[in-house]
Amino acid sequence: MPEKLNLETLLVSGISPEVHSEPVVSPIILSTTFERGSDGNFVPGGDIYSRSSNPNRRQLEKKLALLENGLKALAFSSGQAATYAVFQALPAGSHVIIPDDIYYGTRSALKLLGNNTGITLSEINMADIEEVDSSILPETRLIWVETPSNPKLKITDIDAILKLSKKHKNILVACDNTWATPYFSKPLDLGCDLVMHSTTKYFGGHSDVVGGALMWKEEKDETFFAKIKEYQITGGAVPSPFDCWLLNRSLATFHLRMPRHAENAMGLAGYLESHPKILQVFYPGLKSNEGHKIAQKQMVNGFGGMLSVLIEGDEENCKAVAARLKVFKNATSLGGVESLVDHRRTYEGKDSTLPANLLRVSVGIENLQDLIADFKQALG
Ligand SMILES: *Cc1c(COP(=O)(O)O)cnc(C)c1O
Repeated sequence: MPEKLNLETLLVSGISPEVHSEPVVSPIILSTTFERGSDGNFVPGGDIYSRSSNPNRRQLEKKLALLENGLKALAFSSGQAATYAVFQALPAGSHVIIPDDIYYGTRSALKLLGNNTGITLSEINMADIEEVDSSILPETRLIWVETPSNPKLKITDIDAILKLSKKHKNILVACDNTWATPYFSKPLDLGCDLVMHSTTKYFGGHSDVVGGALMWKEEKDETFFAKIKEYQITGGAVPSPFDCWLLNRSLATFHLRMPRHAENAMGLAGYLESHPKILQVFYPGLKSNEGHKIAQKQMVNGFGGMLSVLIEGDEENCKAVAARLKVFKNATSLGGVESLVDHRRTYEGKDSTLPANLLRVSVGIENLQDLIADFKQALG
């Protein structure tokens, strides 16, 4: 800096923050642009522009890769943005196989994209491996697994899907691991090519940040993964430094929150299963659940914090139960420390094929007895 600067110039750029001691908590680096080196060239390994890279995002992506035992992770501005990057990287005219019970937005994304790219999809019951086998076409490029699925918590046998995919040359297997989280299941370790997350859910854990992520291990198809990264950067669906900072902070308590979610979900599922007004409980931790054996085989540490129930009576009654709950908030989304219920059929709208008496439950980390008592009074 030259010696004699005027006030306006000093206020804009003449005073540096002078960080002399290392802060214990990472700073949020909001700067969208970064200086070149003293030789006028880009600093090797340095940042240039925040859409391409940012220190807070780099820190987050490192943690995300570690969580899934991945080589690489990319952070996105939402789970949907991560999903889109995968589908956009597929060759035009690809065929994709998805489970019939799947996060509503993933199916919508594929349908929307299919209109322009000729991507076709088959929605099938992935609990039935023969059905998966018979739906594979010469142009099938991707099998998209979601286990447990949303909202019926159907379990897909990942190992069986991988064996099937290996009989063909060009089929990648991706897993939406948002519900299981790496605390309960690590799809990359099982052999999947790609893992997707809505970090809005358990990674964020506090219902205050929207984000997404992709992780992978081996670059089975390098051009495919390079293309995904290109969509992340060129498409610009990246999280803000503050969003990355929030996620970085939330991940510090991930391993403390998850066992409590699962413990509470197991306890509540057991209570609801014995309640006369509950017709069915969908929770893979229950022995009565049709996916229990496979869940036991491929999940560790428990069965997650999500469950769904069918309540005796019609849609109106189901919504009335949701409205009577006091500890559980009646709102969509999941994975936060607070318990939520969601009537998915009304969320999904007129195309929904879900039962009218299905209520989805995101079990939080409150006291289990309070959660049980709340359902007891609401069911009446
Ligand atoms: C929420 C969710 C998504 C979408 O993520 P957003 O962050 O809302 O874009 C995808 N898959 C599953 C299983 C989800 O629960």
